[in-house]
Amino acid sequence: MSTSCPKIPTPHVDSITEWIYSSKTEHVNEVRLYKTKFWNILLTKSPPFLPLLFWPLIIYYLIISLTFIRFYWILIGFILWFPIEYLFHRFLFHLPVIGYHSQKFHFFLHGIHHVAPNDLWHVFSPIHELGIQALIVWIIFKIFQLPDPNALISGLLINYIRYDSIHYLIHAYSPAKISKLPLIGNYLRKCSIHHRQHHFSNPRKHFTISFISSFLD
Ligand SMILES: [Zn+2]
Ligand SMILES: [Zn+2]
Ligand SMILES: [Zn+2]
Repeated sequence: MSTSCPKIPTPHVDSITEWIYSSKTEHVNEVRLYKTKFWNILLTKSPPFLPLLFWPLIIYYLIISLTFIRFYWILIGFILWFPIEYLFHRFLFHLPVIGYHSQKFHFFLHGIHHVAPNDLWHVFSPIHELGIQALIVWIIFKIFQLPDPNALISGLLINYIRYDSIHYLIHAYSPAKISKLPLIGNYLRKCSIHHRQHHFSNPRKHFTISFISSFLD
């Protein structure tokens, strides 16, 4: 394994997680895993308009042959998003760092966002990163022979767009500004405060982002 990023300290587990959770860097590409500047920027930067254009096209493609029964599977996929948001953030994105490989994986997948939470071009997942995750989930649906994996994935992706748009607003604007949005402002303000606690006070707690729940934190 090459040491492609000189700014990452040597993999001493305690210090690396402390560094990730305390370091505040302006731009993700200042501390990225890819060797060259070109790949660093191309694979790290995710301007919000890209996923907001790309994923609706994929959803359209997946559900174009709309029949009434598909609507149910889209709805089930949509609801399935909520536990997935929590479980992925809690157990995958914040997986225990026990050595060099888990450290790299953690940093690549999510640590980078904790290092540079103000880089608005890395709040939305880069398309290839979410794409790989969506593909794995789709394959799991196929393996378990669920009736309509495409509709299920579409429901998940529709809710993903809602989730990452909220995530973006939280990082782009203060809770006070967000609260001024009509109808949903007050709720989003609560989500904003909760996610800011996750970033700036205790990254080992407060894992729900786009919703507030009394039994999932
Ligand atoms: Zn965040
Ligand atoms: Zn996190
Ligand atoms: Zn909480």
